[in-house]
Amino acid sequence: MGQKRDYYEVLGVSKNADESEIKKAYRKLAIKYHPDKNPDDISAEEKFKEAAEAYEVLSNSEKRAQYDRFGHAGMGSQGGFGGMNMDDIFSQFGDIFGSAFGGSFGGSRSGGSRTIKGTNLRVKMKLNLEEIALGVKKKIKVNKLVNAEGVTYKTCSTCNGTGRITKVSQTFLGAMQTQSACHVCQGAGKIIDKKPADSDIHGLRRQEEVIEIEIPAGVEEGMQLSVSGKGNAGPFNGVPGDLIVVIEEIEHDELRRESENLHYDAIVSFVDATLGESIEVPTVNGKVKIKVDPGTQSGKVLRLKGKGLPILQGYRAGSGDLFVHIHVWTPTKLSKEERDLLESLKDSENFKPQSDLERKGFFGRMKDMFS
Ligand SMILES: [Zn+2]
Repeated sequence: MGQKRDYYEVLGVSKNADESEIKKAYRKLAIKYHPDKNPDDISAEEKFKEAAEAYEVLSNSEKRAQYDRFGHAGMGSQGGFGGMNMDDIFSQFGDIFGSAFGGSFGGSRSGGSRTIKGTNLRVKMKLNLEEIALGVKKKIKVNKLVNAEGVTYKTCSTCNGTGRITKVSQTFLGAMQTQSACHVCQGAGKIIDKKPADSDIHGLRRQEEVIEIEIPAGVEEGMQLSVSGKGNAGPFNGVPGDLIVVIEEIEHDELRRESENLHYDAIVSFVDATLGESIEVPTVNGKVKIKVDPGTQSGKVLRLKGKGLPILQGYRAGSGDLFVHIHVWTPTKLSKEERDLLESLKDSENFKPQSDLERKGFFGRMKDMFS
């Protein structure tokens, strides 16, 4: 996919635009670039689709949050919403323009009836820290509603296939026409004629399907990724809903996560802290060796720049850091020889704690490691 324009830029609204601003901006663009107004104008059609896609995402708080965090990379594996077709777009119009507009405007392509969207399918996905760090492709088995084979349709007789019911009522302004979606066919304009016995009233049945999902690096517990069009099939040959993937993090044995940063507790011996030593530290891509300087105090924090998790928010880039917290192990049992040795050091000037270290920031001071 080429570079996609920022959705906010497409609609010409600010990043903190509210729902009504977004709707207003989209309505303006949809009218301007509507295919009926710009016949045979490919660029208008592209702009029309682009605006519809931007609206589809920004008008949905879940999808918008995902986009704000990850940008286009977070919008699903198959290029996400790039695949919106005209039916999808016109099916949005009922909400945007109200039912009064519907028949003459939104539904002009499909003879007044609307396409019904299938329901969303939610699945949980457990990921370990390594998978989160690198991003991962996962195959998952879902049990979803699909169109059963052998279903035939006939025109809805209640609305004569228009999908809408027009009511005329008398008001002091004269006769007023109002339209609403047909309650029999839910606006589809058609109803099921024949269907196999194992399908539900909408001609759908459950079927297992394996779906491959690409998880971008840097996701977090509770985050929801939506994959457009991979949910349940829409009734009456409608468009499928979305697949919503809810991320669950498997806790790492040694590393603690704090958004994009990682923390590791390194326990070193009193001798190593005094004399200096190399220690092994686990990272999300294997172990690394780092140096503990001679005279290192307990509580010292070493920072391994860029060894955290990738940041995938639209407006930030890069990686977090890995913080190594040094803890000095104090021996809990000693042999006679060891005890004698320590006793002999007791009064040594070098073994006396220096109280002004705290003020010098010696204990808590962070040291950067460029590895
Ligand atoms: Zn009907």
